Amino acid sequence: MAFNIAIDGPAGAGKSTIAKRVAKELSYIYVDTGAMYRAMALYFLRAGIAADDEAAITESCEQITVNLSNEHGEQQVFLNGENVNGFIRTEEVGKMTSAVSVYAPVREKLTQLQREMAQTTDLIMDGRDIGTCVLPDAQVKIYLTASVETRGKRRFLELQEKGAECSLEEICEDIEKRDYRDMTREISPLKQAEDAILVDSSEMSIEEVVAKILEIVRDTKI
Ligand code: C5P
Repeated sequence: MAFNIAIDGPAGAGKSTIAKRVAKELSYIYVDTGAMYRAMALYFLRAGIAADDEAAITESCEQITVNLSNEHGEQQVFLNGENVNGFIRTEEVGKMTSAVSVYAPVREKLTQLQREMAQTTDLIMDGRDIGTCVLPDAQVKIYLTASVETRGKRRFLELQEKGAECSLEEICEDIEKRDYRDMTREISPLKQAEDAILVDSSEMSIEEVVAKILEIVRDTKI
């Protein structure tokens, strides 16, 4: 049976950075499920479908295929055969993603794919509903969080490094809105699974969080 590690938590808690490092240490595959939701959101944006047009979203789900591949340890996301890694990290796509990931047909499509991958492969998968819904039997479940201020500052520095104009206040407001939407949606809301271990990274370095998770994995395997 494959060994699965589920990492859930709010936007900006450092899930992908941490999960990538843990995956490398363990030689596991890293699956970033947010990127899969982002690819679907990109499809709807390109098709000119509004985020509140549930009928059009439901109908077009049938025309969408999302695939992943791993090249040199980096996840590549394919939308109907096109590598869309370069298009899914914008603020516009991020907002659209949070809006359309509330719909059942969107979630069902991706959940099925995620479960199939986890059945046969040792992996670390990050998202919002991995421990609660996608992989309820994952051997290790982590709920990684950090304060809004910490997450806002991290995002602010990231954008500044890219040369983007941004305000810390606006970023924190956006984070709060996204948290609220992800935590209060009807289907698969973001919440800590009962058997997940809470890790608050507000006062921890990346290395400390990685070490903590590796320790949890080691303890579980004994
Ligand atoms: O993790 P990332 O910020 O890329 O996720 C973008 C959005 O995708 C989240 O805000 C959330 O609305 C949605 N998502 C989800 N379930 C997941 C992963 C992401 O609903 N498993």
